[in-house]
Amino acid sequence: MKTATITIHNPTGLHARPARLFVDTAKKFRASIRVQHGSKEANAKSMISLLKLGVEQGADIQITAEGEDEAAALEALVALVTSGLGEDGASVASAPAAPVATAPAPRLAEPGARVIRGLPAAPGLAVGPIWQWRAAPALQPDPTFRSLGEEQAALTTALAEARRQIEQMAARVSRAGAADEAAIFAAHLEILHDPELLSMVEGRIGQGSSASVAWHDVMEQQAESLAALDDPLLAARAADIRDVSRLVLRLLLGVASEGPQLPDHAVILVADDLSPSDTATLDRQRILGFCTAKGTPTAHAAILARALGLPAVVGAGPAILELANGTPAILDGEQGLLHVEPAETTLQAARLAQEERQRSLQAARQAAHQPAVTLDGHRVEVAANIGAVAEAAQAREAGAEAIGLLRTEFLFLQRTQAPSVEEQAAVYGEVLDAMQGRVVIIRTLDVGGDKPLPYLTQPAESNPFLGVRGIRLCLQQPELLRRQLTAILQAAARGPLRVMFPMIATVEEWRQARALLDEVRVDIGGPAIEAGMMIEVPAAALMADIFAAEVDFFSIGTNDLTQYTLAVDRQHAELAALADGLHPAVLRLIAHTVEAAHRAGKWVGVCGELGADPQAIPILLGLGVDELSVNTPAVPTVKALIRRLEFRRCRQLAQQALACETADAVRTLSAALAASPDSEQTHEQVRPLS
Ligand code: PEP
Ligand code: MG
Repeated sequence: MKTATITIHNPTGLHARPARLFVDTAKKFRASIRVQHGSKEANAKSMISLLKLGVEQGADIQITAEGEDEAAALEALVALVTSGLGEDGASVASAPAAPVATAPAPRLAEPGARVIRGLPAAPGLAVGPIWQWRAAPALQPDPTFRSLGEEQAALTTALAEARRQIEQMAARVSRAGAADEAAIFAAHLEILHDPELLSMVEGRIGQGSSASVAWHDVMEQQAESLAALDDPLLAARAADIRDVSRLVLRLLLGVASEGPQLPDHAVILVADDLSPSDTATLDRQRILGFCTAKGTPTAHAAILARALGLPAVVGAGPAILELANGTPAILDGEQGLLHVEPAETTLQAARLAQEERQRSLQAARQAAHQPAVTLDGHRVEVAANIGAVAEAAQAREAGAEAIGLLRTEFLFLQRTQAPSVEEQAAVYGEVLDAMQGRVVIIRTLDVGGDKPLPYLTQPAESNPFLGVRGIRLCLQQPELLRRQLTAILQAAARGPLRVMFPMIATVEEWRQARALLDEVRVDIGGPAIEAGMMIEVPAAALMADIFAAEVDFFSIGTNDLTQYTLAVDRQHAELAALADGLHPAVLRLIAHTVEAAHRAGKWVGVCGELGADPQAIPILLGLGVDELSVNTPAVPTVKALIRRLEFRRCRQLAQQALACETADAVRTLSAALAASPDSEQTHEQVRPLS
């Protein structure tokens, strides 16, 4: 018997994907493997059993393996936990997808019309009648016990069919270009294979329960005990268990698919909530979009809706469940609104806007390689944010004029040793090659408490976003930063590159980072390259005049700047609506930064999600931002939107926005912006990327 004790560093503890990886690895060994956490113990090959331990970040677990390959099993599991359990910057990837700018949002407001406000979950407009989807009544298991053999066979057949159906859903979502989202269904398959669950179900059948009673009771008990742990992540897992449970129960009872009974025309689906499998199986021909009373933009249903291109609004509240079937409505997934019984003119405007949206998407793609110049001649650079080598070519093809943010975390996470200087230099060089002479801005490593590196010992932090992350970690581990800067300088021969430092809060941090860059350059005889910093901490924005004298440029990370300004965790699903980068407080910090930079003759970019938000773009331009660096798919549409704007009007709008009291007021103002024919270009040109 072999035993090891190890600390779990993952931000969400031993939940979801990390737990699945742990179970998958354990299953590769014949040894019996148990995991102990406090007084609770679990079978390491059972996802559900593991989840019920409720292991949180910073907790110690004891792994015990017993059997012929016990040593190898223990070694593999310890290495896996040490390497971060497959979390390669999950917090970066899990940021809600940025809205993609297309045609300007239609102005559908009309006096007296009823508009229900929810949260924008997937962009697009849907126009059609409401159709209520009441969740089918709970299925009652059939207690008739035939014979042991028949009940066991019925279970095997139902599980095999359930597997086939789940694989089909995963394939459908993958085909829609959302391989990552298809992983939701991998978790469902895991539940079907869970040895602990299956042995409990089989045990009950052995004691004389019918397959449907045994299955139903075991699954319900598991879901309830997970939900009772009072942890939103585990509650979501309970929803997954119930989703899979219902599918298998339906198959056991021979009940036909429970999808919504739809009329013969296309509808806007209204429901209390939708499960991932409900969403993945929605008939695109007859469902124009959906609006749910519950749910958040980061829930699986919303993620799938974005992947499937289905307009969606979530969290709209119970009032929507009172709407009668057939009520005419407009669903605005971009603004999170459901217009109920709009006037005929509004309906027509929405239909026109839909057509225009299609046309403008098409046109935006065709003009993707043209520069983004406003109607009155103000040019704004549009660059891409990437986090992998392969994305560079995609960004170039999408019309990106530069890489405004290369997140380098992918090189450092999910491995047991830091990458060598040579490996890093080769990767940076590949990105430069792919960009064919366009500028690449490399951001130095931005990890820390929320994304721990397995090869650095870091104590668990109770508040990782306020802990040793970003530049703080690199300055505590100067060798790590020195090696990265060496690689960056070596790669500089392959093309135009710049470096920027993340999470700078104080001028001392900037100076230390900058001094290290100069030191490395002198040591290796490297070229002089431009160095900038991210503005993502309010202190840095407020001190921008001091920094501006020393940096070559600023890039505003609005994701973090918003989280720190409004004190809202950027990963908090329930507070998603509060974390609005268009809050005047955030805008004032941006304005202050831009003014300080321009006074010193430096340029400013925005590389947070806000840069792709159609309502934010005119305001950011008006505040004087010189470059927008956005997710690759948004590049053509952001450029197209800029081409429809008038800079003079953007500047007026920005001034009005700064005087607003709330984020909502800013959004209302921005939605009301109308282009005007006269133009006048007065902005001092500060070219960021040429
Ligand atoms: C930001 O904070 O806005 C940003 C671009 O950095 P990241 O999302 O990688 O933290
Ligand atoms: Mg950031």
